[in-house]
Amino acid sequence: MDHTANTVLVVEDEAEIREMLSFTLSRAGFTVWEAESAEQALGMLDRQLPSLAIVDWMLPRMSGVDLAARLRRDAFTAELPIIMLTARGEEADKLKGYDSGIDDYLTKPFSPRELVARIRALLRRAGKPDDGAINIGGMTLDLRSHQLRVEGQPVKLGPTEFRLLEHFMTHPNRVFDRAQLLDHVWGRSIYVEERTVDVHVLRLRKALKPFGLDKHVETVRGVGYRFTP
Ligand code: CA
Repeated sequence: MDHTANTVLVVEDEAEIREMLSFTLSRAGFTVWEAESAEQALGMLDRQLPSLAIVDWMLPRMSGVDLAARLRRDAFTAELPIIMLTARGEEADKLKGYDSGIDDYLTKPFSPRELVARIRALLRRAGKPDDGAINIGGMTLDLRSHQLRVEGQPVKLGPTEFRLLEHFMTHPNRVFDRAQLLDHVWGRSIYVEERTVDVHVLRLRKALKPFGLDKHVETVRGVGYRFTP
């Protein structure tokens, strides 16, 4: 599990617009997280990620642009797709000049239909490859059959090791601490001791070792683990 499926974070201080967005998105089948400030949004993104964020430019204290830039700098949120809401065309023009990593923007007022269409397009672009497989360094992770193949040969992996490897392969070079891995791989609703992560990382390495691929799963001292292609 990576992003919490079909969940959209809405960051907008005006209650009326926030409620309209929430209503529109819920009706389109999305789960909506609402934040009325950048600070509140950052708190919500501490441990879990939505599929996408809709961020209003004009927010009290920290602006939507500053929030987006901050999310891009943090490895945990760096790839979160962001749609920026702007009030005027002038802001939209200004936005083009920013290299803040905003994926798309919408100028108010917009139609609910357009918003949903933009979200779906962005989620498609940010999605996993169409063939349902991830290929890195001779390893092929087949997401449909839940099978790992190395040089075409199937490798036996437990379901947790599979999900762990999937998480690593979809987030190469990022360091995750044990709590983050528990949230992403085991899910937040399950209580598991952090030591459990070490046990499954060990099993994953053991499965990869005969192919000399265990070195890809690195221990980062005092922090956690990282997958390096
Ligand atoms: Ca606003």
